[in-house]
Amino acid sequence: MQVRSGLVDAIGRTPLIRLNRASEATGCEILGKAEFMNPGQSVKDRAALWIIRDAEKRGALRPGGVIVEGTAGNTGIGLALVANALGYRTVIVIPDTQSDEKKQMLRLAGAELVEVPAVPYKDPNNYVKLSGRLAEELAKTEANGAIWANQFDNVANRQAHIDSTGPEIWDDLGGKVDGFVSAVGTGGTLAGTAMALKERSKAVKVALADPPGAALYSYYTTGELKAEGSSITEGIGQGRITANLEDAPVDFAYQIPDEESVRIVFDLLEHEGLCLGGSTGVNVAGAIRLAKELGPGHTIVTVLCDYGTRYQSKLFNPEFLRSKELPVPTWLERPGTVDL
Ligand code: PMP
Repeated sequence: MQVRSGLVDAIGRTPLIRLNRASEATGCEILGKAEFMNPGQSVKDRAALWIIRDAEKRGALRPGGVIVEGTAGNTGIGLALVANALGYRTVIVIPDTQSDEKKQMLRLAGAELVEVPAVPYKDPNNYVKLSGRLAEELAKTEANGAIWANQFDNVANRQAHIDSTGPEIWDDLGGKVDGFVSAVGTGGTLAGTAMALKERSKAVKVALADPPGAALYSYYTTGELKAEGSSITEGIGQGRITANLEDAPVDFAYQIPDEESVRIVFDLLEHEGLCLGGSTGVNVAGAIRLAKELGPGHTIVTVLCDYGTRYQSKLFNPEFLRSKELPVPTWLERPGTVDL
């Protein structure tokens, strides 16, 4: 047993979990990097920590300073927890479409929440752009200054995965890794992990798993950024090449319909006891497709992005699922008590 010295040191070094049913169905070893086991229960704790450490190193973040960010939730939760541990404050701008559970967790962690209508990136009132302007204003008025985390275009985000996620996967498998699959929000996880693995072996194949409504599947297959459809999946679905995505070494791209990804989320919970969010369903569906592409006998790693309780009111809510014409797992319909 190791002692981790505080929250910051408890981020990362997550285990790889063999996904038994996906592995048996494909004849490959399909492994999930258990990012939901980070202290903030998501992959974004790593990006939050690296962004804060980078700002400290540059002298931009001073003791007691404010960290401002536009986030779908998980980055905000990571930032708020790390900020508490290191003596900063957080102001989080969040689109009002995000789950209540994530908002509640942000408030619980002491973040100041600014809820805004969800509008496209090109709109000046988009949550990301708004958070940038708010950071500029607060930098002038706050006694200890303020910074904009800017997770989409701040490459300290992908550096987290170049320095930690990728090397952890490589070392845990003794280099026996044939493929890596990830969805994209900012692109930090996909690009950073892919870069670290490819640096160690050019033979590692990298695949993007994209939900409908995102433009990257089209970009990596045709060269054109084009988005069609929509998805209930939170935290992923990108419409542009962020700075974090630039030069990401992507070999394959798959588009995963919600119908396919939610079934995988339910299957992982019902049959393997893994309670995970919607983006994990997209990732595991992508890993199964890459396994089929490469053939049996390969080892493919993907990311178990965050914990499922964050989505009880949506992804695990029969009424919500029915309203989106998505399958409802039988156990969600059963009454909660058992007659003995
Ligand atoms: N899954 C979830 C649930 C997320 O919140 C995020 C980040 N927004 C991702 C996946 C994607 O991570 P990244 O930003 O590194 O692309």
